[in-house]
Amino acid sequence: MSERSAASDLDTERVAAAFGSLADDSRIAILVALWTEGPLPFSELQTVAGFDDSGHFNYHLDQLLGQFVEKESEVYRLRAAGTKAIDIVFDERFAGSASTVDRELDADCPACGEGLRAHYEDGLVEIACSDCPVLVHLGYFPPRGRATRDMEAFLDAYARRLWRDFTLAQEGVCPHCSGRIDTRVEVDPDWHLSLPAVSRCRDCEVTIGTAIGLRLLADPAVVGFLYDHGIRVDDRPFWELAFCIDDDDAWIEREDPLRVVVPIERDGETLRVTVDEHARVVRTNVVTDRR
Ligand SMILES: [Zn+2]
Ligand SMILES: [Zn+2]
Repeated sequence: MSERSAASDLDTERVAAAFGSLADDSRIAILVALWTEGPLPFSELQTVAGFDDSGHFNYHLDQLLGQFVEKESEVYRLRAAGTKAIDIVFDERFAGSASTVDRELDADCPACGEGLRAHYEDGLVEIACSDCPVLVHLGYFPPRGRATRDMEAFLDAYARRLWRDFTLAQEGVCPHCSGRIDTRVEVDPDWHLSLPAVSRCRDCEVTIGTAIGLRLLADPAVVGFLYDHGIRVDDRPFWELAFCIDDDDAWIEREDPLRVVVPIERDGETLRVTVDEHARVVRTNVVTDRR
């Protein structure tokens, strides 16, 4: 099998030239003007971007034309690379306008039972115990998704997006770069989880580790079982579903090939989900608890 990494194909000179043409606050102003008000004709763009001198404006616009901005029928608009550059412009890690979030969640620490807290800073969301050192979850959320929402809406959007990211990784698509990502169940890691599903991207080095349960939220048997018990997977954030953040009751059914059983219990019924070494579902069955 031939292995190619994105990094080895990179034309660093071209990338440096592209960054170079962005490295000027006048040009950033033009991109932002097109993002907020565009597409715009020359003179309007000059006004919105805040230039008095059209020669000066024209010079900077020229540096962006082609790669970041295009002109059609006398109107300027952002190209795809210009929209991507806007993502960077609004990234608070560059602008230094971090609006952090820190609040209690309606969920308990899988290790000690104390409440969990969510903390957002520099694009990273941490869900951790308020009392012991357990870090339940660490994830990335684009700062623009934070900047445009209040705290409640942000956490809601984060919860909705993240389980999809994790199930996407499970399907072999890296949620960060869309490259190739492989998932394996790790046995006995040095972590509060005893059988985490860990996905490693072959193209961007991103690593995602979660309870196996969190990878099951797109499985039809799991979705159906929860629905039958009054839970739609989007109705509550994944950290309120214990099997998504804790794997205390998961067990190894077989070592070779690896089979791990994740029980999901609701109202006296248990869905037993058996997964393989890639955390892929191989079997599900419902067991009614006899009391
Ligand atoms: Zn704790
Ligand atoms: Zn990747």
